[in-house]
Amino acid sequence: MKKILLLIIIGFMAITLSACDETRDSDKLQVVATTTYVGDMVRNVGGNLVEVSVLMDVGVDPHEYQPRQSDTEKIASADLLVINGLNLEEMMGEVFRQIGDDKLLVLGDYVDQADLLFEENDEVDPHIWFDLEIWQSLTLVVAEKLGTLDENNHLYYQTRAKEYSLDLKMLDVYIQDRIDVVPEDKHVLVTAHDAFAYFGRSYGFDVYAVQGISTEAEASISDIDELAQLLVDLDINKVFWETSVPQSTVNALVAAAQALDHDVSVGGELYSDSTGGWDDGHETLIRTYRNNVDTIIDALME
Ligand SMILES: [Zn+2]
Repeated sequence: MKKILLLIIIGFMAITLSACDETRDSDKLQVVATTTYVGDMVRNVGGNLVEVSVLMDVGVDPHEYQPRQSDTEKIASADLLVINGLNLEEMMGEVFRQIGDDKLLVLGDYVDQADLLFEENDEVDPHIWFDLEIWQSLTLVVAEKLGTLDENNHLYYQTRAKEYSLDLKMLDVYIQDRIDVVPEDKHVLVTAHDAFAYFGRSYGFDVYAVQGISTEAEASISDIDELAQLLVDLDINKVFWETSVPQSTVNALVAAAQALDHDVSVGGELYSDSTGGWDDGHETLIRTYRNNVDTIIDALME
């Protein structure tokens, strides 16, 4: 009797497993990425050999993202989970701890400590995709990991990583060219939260934000008043919304500066912690970053 029961169970498992197999393209590595930027990186390096699923939708704030049941299921059936790390995905720690090291790639762990930026309280700044040199170096890290899981195609991933790295280099040249025409005293960027420090370091911009590197804590009235006073002192006339942070944060800053009789307006909306989407044509880091820089420069040169 026991034997029959066992056979039934085994038979049932076989059916369930084959049903799972039908939903996945078995030739391709199945990779799950947390953010749109990480997903974009894996797509570029993995090319046709990798199926990428991104957990956070376009416009979602990764600092506040709570994992769903369907996320854990996706991760469980994937070959690899790639995350930004450096505490960007603050609420997902428990999910990450349950994954074996061989199935988890934490990009932030591969950034040289000396290249990272830190807040005054020693909190590390996780917005590393805006440092194109760092992001370029991570293409090879992703290629190496994919090559370990799929050894026959090791060279394919390496080649794609080098090609993508060149595309990022061309983006860097484009950004530098655009910024070169802006007078240095206008090299100031004010946004909702502190996501642009790596951009600032790369291209010589002073960056200020209402909130710190995380959006988890609400901005206080004194934060807003202090920054409004700074806009007056430095005669800054443009501030920027971010797609993954409510516009009210920056609107409160504009109102506070106007109350001090200072002329300030919103220069446009930037993509900070999420790329744009397929519908607006900014679904990759390259398109997103280009669009951000165009928005910033056009507003500053008005
Ligand atoms: Zn952020």
